[in-house]
Amino acid sequence: MGQDAARAPAAVKFTFVHLLLYCFVLSLVSVAFGQSAQRCAKCGEWNRPQKPFRIFGNSYYVGTHGLSSILITSERGHVLIDGALPQSAAQIANNLRALGFHIEDVKVILNSHVHFDHAGGIAELQRLSHARVVASDWSANVLRSGRPGTGDPQYIRGVSIAPVANVGRLHDGEAIRVGEISIRAHITPGHTPGGTSFTWKTCEGPICRNMVYADSTTPVSSGAFRFTSSRDYPGAQADFEKSFAFMETTPCDILITTHPEASLLWERLEARGKGTFPDPMVNSRACRELAEHGREQLRERFAEERRKQSQKAN
Ligand SMILES: [Zn+2]
Repeated sequence: MGQDAARAPAAVKFTFVHLLLYCFVLSLVSVAFGQSAQRCAKCGEWNRPQKPFRIFGNSYYVGTHGLSSILITSERGHVLIDGALPQSAAQIANNLRALGFHIEDVKVILNSHVHFDHAGGIAELQRLSHARVVASDWSANVLRSGRPGTGDPQYIRGVSIAPVANVGRLHDGEAIRVGEISIRAHITPGHTPGGTSFTWKTCEGPICRNMVYADSTTPVSSGAFRFTSSRDYPGAQADFEKSFAFMETTPCDILITTHPEASLLWERLEARGKGTFPDPMVNSRACRELAEHGREQLRERFAEERRKQSQKAN
């Protein structure tokens, strides 16, 4: 009895420490799981198989139904933009094969922004292709570490993506070349501090189109992040402005967005399938309209944040 009594405090301490540890681990797991479950409520729909197709010239859609992945081909190797979800990588590789290409011929992989629904499959696609991955400074750091980047409006501690082994850096306005392919990178931040859009020219005979792969411009955040005043991302507003200005001025015939429905890709494809003329894939106002919509969303978000702030103050 005496012995038990003497041991009791140690036993209580032991249990209490373990309880604390258990709660801590549980909270980390639930944050990570909760986040992926929350984000992944859409994963099944995002990852729905999509028959790959030629967009124009040497540019093909090889993504899933809900997440874009674009292949630009040449005799001397290909470029792939975005890798969708981790579970999308095999589907993307199969889509290339269905079009008569090989994942091993992909020489460069590019990324719009490092969220798991656009960058999650890149590590596996790099493993399959041995391609070089190049990204903006901010994105390259996140891709390498696999951990969310500070300043990311959707930053959640403990949520990670598969780290990518070799990531090179690209600069704003830099041209990425493979064979006769030349793709220009444009840093279009806001949705993340390292967001990047891409432009290139694609021809079918004498007809050439200005292709634009536009990064997300939605002001989406997690937790208490505020676009109007974030210590981790103080330049968010100016960054969005830079991105909108780019989209308003870049030559734009065919727009593809990270989430295909944001630029009505499926409606355009259906109309094309019906033989609509001129090609419904082409819309030279599309980039300006995207910027306009983005500005509207940002205005609404700012108004909402200010409203909440003044409610707090009162
Ligand atoms: Zn995102």
